[in-house]
Amino acid sequence: MVVELISVGTELLLGNIVNTNAQYLAQKCAELGLSVYYQSCVGDNAKRLEDTIRLALSRSDVVILGGGLGPTEDDITKETAAAVFETELKEDAHTRQRIEAYFEKNKEIPENNWKQAQVPAGAKVLDNDNGTAPGLIMEKGEKTLILLPGPPNELIPMFQESVIPYLKGRCSDAIVSAMIKSCGIGESKVAAMLNDIIEEQTNPTIATYAKTGEVDIRVTASAPTEKEAKKLVRPVVEKIKSRLKDAVFTTEEDVTLEEEVVRLLNKYELTLATAESCTGGLLGGRLVNVPGVSDVYKAGFITYSNKAKRKYLDVSKNTLKKYGAVSKETAKEMAKGGVFQTDADICIAVTGLAGPGGATKEKPVGLVYIACYIGDKVQVKEYHFKGNRNKIREQTVVRALDTVRRCILDKYHETARK
Ligand code: ATP
Ligand code: MG
Repeated sequence: MVVELISVGTELLLGNIVNTNAQYLAQKCAELGLSVYYQSCVGDNAKRLEDTIRLALSRSDVVILGGGLGPTEDDITKETAAAVFETELKEDAHTRQRIEAYFEKNKEIPENNWKQAQVPAGAKVLDNDNGTAPGLIMEKGEKTLILLPGPPNELIPMFQESVIPYLKGRCSDAIVSAMIKSCGIGESKVAAMLNDIIEEQTNPTIATYAKTGEVDIRVTASAPTEKEAKKLVRPVVEKIKSRLKDAVFTTEEDVTLEEEVVRLLNKYELTLATAESCTGGLLGGRLVNVPGVSDVYKAGFITYSNKAKRKYLDVSKNTLKKYGAVSKETAKEMAKGGVFQTDADICIAVTGLAGPGGATKEKPVGLVYIACYIGDKVQVKEYHFKGNRNKIREQTVVRALDTVRRCILDKYHETARK
């Protein structure tokens, strides 16, 4: 089934707000195994919206519209959709009651809000628990329009509770998808490594998504039953895992890299310290995203100046003078110092040049050293990250987390998480 998305709103068109609804809806459609070939964004203009809806209906089975269901004059999505399907608007008693209940505390219901009780004849009304505008599903022949309110706190729960079951009911097949998350190999390399698998498959389909420092791979299959769809997904997941080996850190949809690191620390009863220079606490911040991290995270040092590196991590004056703050030697001493200061089992240390200033010929912007001290041994690696200051710092954090993960796995000979 082909689904198309239309985001309605001049604010979106002008870039005043970010179109997070489109991202959410597109991701959910991919998870449901639905094909999305087009997305568009159109302002609050009846003629242009009508043209956009007609075009979308000419090439897609289901068109999902977000925004423009509010009570004001510029909210025209419902009226325009009704005009395209040549249906009348009539009052929906249930929605009228819901609006009354919603405003109970306020007593006075703004006159405009009654407009929201008007729905196209024959439309399915989706209750909105977080606002007054109902969602609407309108069917005509083979084609469907789904209208959702713009505010994400209304659109997301409505999509979750009402639209997903509806779309699933429309597809005769069961859809099963699996996620493989990897770290340490770039997206183009991952794509090249999986190229033959990706090319030979139509069911399941395989899609790669690159995030900073991470590549996720989604495998989605459809079949008459869930069991059969799972059977199609499983061997492909195994094949991808065996290609990417220990770059795979999880096959669980909701598990983040920092959660995986914390899981491994817990599993092997290890504690961690961080020693950061160029990331200035970002690494510690990522770890602290994980609830319960206090069992394994002992301390974090932000040693931005040379003086702090000496004072808190005991980096030698000589090392700093001879090799500089951004060097293998300094990174190693920071990691070692972190362990000795805290008694942690592991310390991960990062030092680098996030730019834009401060570069020399020998030490360009993006040069980062990551050192990991574990079991009396310290390893250090040199990286050359690209991008602006933020990108360099984010990539450093991801690599540092991945380094901790790989060091633990190396030490305990565990292959990537099943
Ligand atoms: P309202 O009753 O609030 O007017 P509506 O259904 O008419 O709701 P819009 O007027 O289009 O929706 O948008 C209302 C607000 O919802 C916007 O100001 C914006 O904050 C948010 N919003 C709308 N569309 C999007 C989107 N695509 N992504 C993220 N936020 C959005
Ligand atoms: Mg509005």
